[in-house]
Amino acid sequence: MTEHVTGGSLYRKEPKIYPRQVSGRFTRLRVVAVWVLLGLFYLLPWLQIGDKQAVLFDLPARKFYLFGLTFWPQDFVYLALLLITAGLSLFFFTALAGRLWCGFACPQTVWTEVFIRLERLIEGDRQKRMKLDAAPWDAQKILRKSVKQAVWILFAAWTGFTFVGFFTPIHELGNHVLSLSMGPWETFWTIFYGFATYGNAGFLREQVCKYMCPYARFQSAMFDKDTLIISYDTERGEPRGGRRKNVDPSEAGLGDCINCTLCVQVCPTGIDIREGLQYECIACAACIDVCDQVMDKMEYPRGLIRYTTEHSLKHKQAHVIRPRIIVYGMLLLALVSGTVWSMTTRVPLRADLIRDRNALYRELPGDVVENVYTLKITNMDDAPHRYTMTVLNNDAVEVDLARPLELAAEEVAGVSVRLRIPKAAGQGVQTLDIELQASDDPSIRKVIEAKALMPMEIGKQP
Ligand code: SF4
Ligand code: SF4
Repeated sequence: MTEHVTGGSLYRKEPKIYPRQVSGRFTRLRVVAVWVLLGLFYLLPWLQIGDKQAVLFDLPARKFYLFGLTFWPQDFVYLALLLITAGLSLFFFTALAGRLWCGFACPQTVWTEVFIRLERLIEGDRQKRMKLDAAPWDAQKILRKSVKQAVWILFAAWTGFTFVGFFTPIHELGNHVLSLSMGPWETFWTIFYGFATYGNAGFLREQVCKYMCPYARFQSAMFDKDTLIISYDTERGEPRGGRRKNVDPSEAGLGDCINCTLCVQVCPTGIDIREGLQYECIACAACIDVCDQVMDKMEYPRGLIRYTTEHSLKHKQAHVIRPRIIVYGMLLLALVSGTVWSMTTRVPLRADLIRDRNALYRELPGDVVENVYTLKITNMDDAPHRYTMTVLNNDAVEVDLARPLELAAEEVAGVSVRLRIPKAAGQGVQTLDIELQASDDPSIRKVIEAKALMPMEIGKQP
């Protein structure tokens, strides 16, 4: 504050955090999450289904390929459903188990974990890193720092390349990289995403969670007193203080916390969980693992820091299943099952019949009336099909197509269609139900409606 008043710098430099290595059940869980999520990210673009990349967001062609399904711009509703499901899942899991996403699945956490592991591999654990940073720039320090930077940059570049591989066929992209012929957009996004990974996971780290992430700001609104949080048991731990292992804490007037500060040293955001629930806590559970190890060594029960709820800490009944969990859960279930059902029963055919605006109708010899249309047809499947076109509600209508309805995979076509209707079918506007069906696959079927105009005879009711 004094600095503000005296016109000093408004910028406070963040002290560097050197998280100590930790092991334990939650750390193992986080490592599994890192392997699974990064494994999916780095391997998925290389997976082929048939002759297509299994996951490809082909923006120039405006088509998304997902495990054998092709999504067109008309399927935009699925993207909206996916975003709603993601939002609702966040509400559901946050209300149930707090910041699970932050601690185990957020890309910032996952990539930071990898960067810290690489750093630890090259520079050593906390003490060695602190010593190295404080040491003068001798040959050894320059070597270690250069190797670390080179490894980070390589990993970040590979990450940027993989990211672009979700939007450009990755085999082609690989060839472009090797032949130094990448396009401007491919180059820009590879560098941009690689640089963002390098900067966020290598340098900004916990500052992204503390100052940049909007979720950290509003997640507390989804918490209630029955939400699982990571908390220090003040009642059991205080008064804290050092003691030898064979000293009985109650006789020494102490709680179970031996004030070793290991929970602070392992914290990637540098906070002290013993000061209570803080928004900087990303719920990584590293402090639980390390404190459990301390409790084991002291032969005290585990769980001085643990997953608990505010109600449990106050010795009140905790309710895991509560109205908001039931509502979020049911909405999520309905949304996911509805989306899966709709995606699996989706017909890969789109058709619209557009009237020829230049002519109302044409009367032909033999008491027949002709209406002319353009059929806009899209084969959304990844196999070619031949389609039949039949009028369902009037057998007497003759369908005359300008060319056979044979479409290659993912082809969009416009075909002129003439419908010849016997005059006896009626007057004025007639509604015809027209079925389009793939000859080789009866499940690919669509019924569209066509309005046909018929002459009106004066004095006769339509
Ligand atoms: S690790 Fe456990 S015992 Fe050590 S300071 Fe933290 S809470 Fe206390
Ligand atoms: S307080 Fe514990 S759970 Fe929270 S960020 Fe720090 S180490 Fe992770």
